[in-house]
Amino acid sequence: MSLVRALSYAEARATVLDAVRPLPPVSVPFTAAVGRALRQAVVSSHELPPFRNSAMDGYAVRAADLEQASAGSPVTLHVVEVLPAGTPSQRSLSLGQAARIMTGAMLPAGADTVVPFEDCERSGTGPGERCIVRRPSPVAEHVRDAGADVREGTIVFEPGRELSPHDLAVIASLGHANLDVSPVPRVAVLSTGDELLDVDQPLRPGAIRDSNRPMLAQLVTAAGGTVHVEQRLPDDTGAVAHAIREALGSCDVVLTIGGVSAGDHDPVKGAATTLPDVELWRVAMRPGRPQAFGTPSGRLFFGLPGNPASVACVFEALVRPALRALLGYTQLDRPRVPVHVAEPIESRAGRTDFVRATLEWRDGELWATPAGAQLSGHLRPQSLAHALLVVPEAAERLAVSERAEALVLRMPAR
Ligand code: AMP
Ligand code: MG
Repeated sequence: MSLVRALSYAEARATVLDAVRPLPPVSVPFTAAVGRALRQAVVSSHELPPFRNSAMDGYAVRAADLEQASAGSPVTLHVVEVLPAGTPSQRSLSLGQAARIMTGAMLPAGADTVVPFEDCERSGTGPGERCIVRRPSPVAEHVRDAGADVREGTIVFEPGRELSPHDLAVIASLGHANLDVSPVPRVAVLSTGDELLDVDQPLRPGAIRDSNRPMLAQLVTAAGGTVHVEQRLPDDTGAVAHAIREALGSCDVVLTIGGVSAGDHDPVKGAATTLPDVELWRVAMRPGRPQAFGTPSGRLFFGLPGNPASVACVFEALVRPALRALLGYTQLDRPRVPVHVAEPIESRAGRTDFVRATLEWRDGELWATPAGAQLSGHLRPQSLAHALLVVPEAAERLAVSERAEALVLRMPAR
């Protein structure tokens, strides 16, 4: 099984997404659903607002009574009722009558318009209250109709939506106390390399600190997963194979870093040959060519390359979409936005490039500049980058001011 399969980026992505089976949904209290993938449709079982109500504090009246009202010939109406929000009317308005009404209170039968307090005059209080109006009020003015916001039977949210705090207001209004969402997938992040140190260990000759593992763990968390296992492993095929098998027992997704290319001590390459349903890949993308992927024991396994740019890029290009698909989201990628290319970018036909780029606004449009040399061992460019600029497979280069697509990691200030 040490055969290496060559794939285009599109083939790799299609193979990965094809292998993903969304996790079975769970029911959670609606407030716990923010940021998660909705796994049911939300259909309104009643109208919003549920009843016709006043949009202002004022008098609910009959528009017909005020048709002839003017400054010279004001109309005086008898105030027969006071309607605070929450108290429905007990009666119907007749000719020449008005109800004192507060914002959000149900309109009484017979009333079809509201005259705000500031547009009329009050005389008297209690049973003797009158309101004096000096202009007509068109039908439906300052009135919120039942169903004007949401009609009964509307599909307000489709499955796959990432729920926002604003969505919760709609959901609360419709009375959905619990919602079906995706469970949080458990992910293992395993780095490999005899040269790696933890963040608090002093440098020694030949060693570097493990920078990919903390980055990848945070990327997983930000994408909606939870890091259930996190380990740094030596360049020992047996130890790596053992750790992967253990992780497959407790996690939905297992990610390894490094040790997957053609070096003498690449332990993931060796371990992968002992796992069922895992292939070594050479993906026509840059960075991130050597990879391993498969579905051992029905879990998702990704062997990511070791170079920092490759880890960041393969995560955005393949792992994040897979995690999001596992979670049941409709939107799998970072926001894809059109940009102009600010500097020429060389590529090669047949390869998809992900260029770490800074973005800037010019006259209301985004321009992308490569964030330094695209060396996959460097850390700084991806920390400076706002986006990964995608050079499509067919393109050999992108010329200055050409349009391209960017996966936005963070927006620049405008
Ligand atoms: P490898 O694929 O294991 O040969 O790794 C390729 C390059 O990435 C080497 O220079 C490694 O030292 C580096 N590398 C691998 N894993 C990590 C890591 N977790 N953190 C930082 N650099 C790494
Ligand atoms: Mg290594």
